[in-house]
Amino acid sequence: LSSDVPGRFTAALSQGYDPVSARQDFPILNQRVNGHQLVWLDNAATTQKPLSVINAISSFYERDNSNIHRGAHTLAARATDAFEGAREKLRRFIGAKEAAEIVFLRGTTEAINLVAQSYGAANIGAGDRIVVSTIEHHANIVPWQLLARKTGAELKAAPVNDRGEIILEDFEKLLTSRTKIVSVTHVANALGTINPVEEIIALAHARGILVLVDAAQSSPHLPIDVTALDADFLVLSGHKIYGPTGIGILYGKRALLDAMPPWQGGGHMIRDVTFEHTEFQGLPEKFEAGTPDISGAVGLGAAVDYLQSLGLSAIAAHEHALLEYVTPQLAEIRGLRIIGQAARKASVVSFVIDGHTAGDVARHLDRQGIAARSGHHCAQPSLRRFGVEETVRASFGLYNTFEDVDVLVRALHQLPRS
Ligand code: PLP
Repeated sequence: LSSDVPGRFTAALSQGYDPVSARQDFPILNQRVNGHQLVWLDNAATTQKPLSVINAISSFYERDNSNIHRGAHTLAARATDAFEGAREKLRRFIGAKEAAEIVFLRGTTEAINLVAQSYGAANIGAGDRIVVSTIEHHANIVPWQLLARKTGAELKAAPVNDRGEIILEDFEKLLTSRTKIVSVTHVANALGTINPVEEIIALAHARGILVLVDAAQSSPHLPIDVTALDADFLVLSGHKIYGPTGIGILYGKRALLDAMPPWQGGGHMIRDVTFEHTEFQGLPEKFEAGTPDISGAVGLGAAVDYLQSLGLSAIAAHEHALLEYVTPQLAEIRGLRIIGQAARKASVVSFVIDGHTAGDVARHLDRQGIAARSGHHCAQPSLRRFGVEETVRASFGLYNTFEDVDVLVRALHQLPRS
């Protein structure tokens, strides 16, 4: 670790956190790319998986694989226990009251679509309003747009200031007697802004409006407690929290989920079927039609165990130190402009450099073994608010070190003059 930031390093270490040792848990990081040690700075797109997650999945397939819930045999019982055990881990991870409030789905995108199509179709009609923010991922825009188009509801986006922070007074003005739901991201994927979801929820609840929190980007960085937050719905993706792809969760308050109609129909979500009538299961099975991603849930449970063994507060402190270390150094690079400078920010830096396309910069970094993303990051309205179509995005995770920052900054200084 760089010796010029001992205070920051100590701040992370003081909570017993050591990124260099954490890094050893991730076999994929131990490789060279284009002749250089791989530096993974694409964590906002997806995170790498620790050995404990990889082993949990392979050991599930080596020992326990079976379909769940509908077998009297031993492996069916083991697979069911593993799946339901993972649900309980997720319940604890987000501080939900009951495991039944955790629905396993493919990820954040599917979870938002479920709420829009099930809750939305039953409760949001012509003339009603859905409020998001300008800095949402497309996954928290398009499902609501589809709903609005179908029902005649309107979709409004709360504006952000030049730092990329939601302007709360303007947000509040969007809350009318016709506003039915507010759906906002906790951390903005393209800019890194940490939204004040506590205040947003308080403002919405004061008017009886529900709030969905998109925790896809916050869950790897910040401790989350849905009960303390009083979030009505909260969604996240396993692959952003060091778990597998294809699995994530919807949390919903029991009363809301109970009242919502099923979304997809099929096996597993029913109690009794005749051609005339189907009686549905209770929670959470009502929303889990078909064979779920059982090994994915098991892997996600292992990811949660891993995060909790390191401690999210310690991870957050370390990542914040990285952000504070990288930001002024990037600002010194000629022609570089950071997009999104919120006072409360997760460890994401999005930037453009005069005279270079984002793709050119990312390809230059790749030649040095550095994986950073270029493009619109599935957040076009967010970038357009700042007059750009694309940025380069470096996003830091629990295994990134101050050396990784040094490698990035050095490589950016070596960008060929255009
Ligand atoms: N919301 C946010 C804030 C995200 O960053 C992402 C993914 O980048 C998503 C939603 C969509 O997640 P997924 O593709 O895992 O469904």
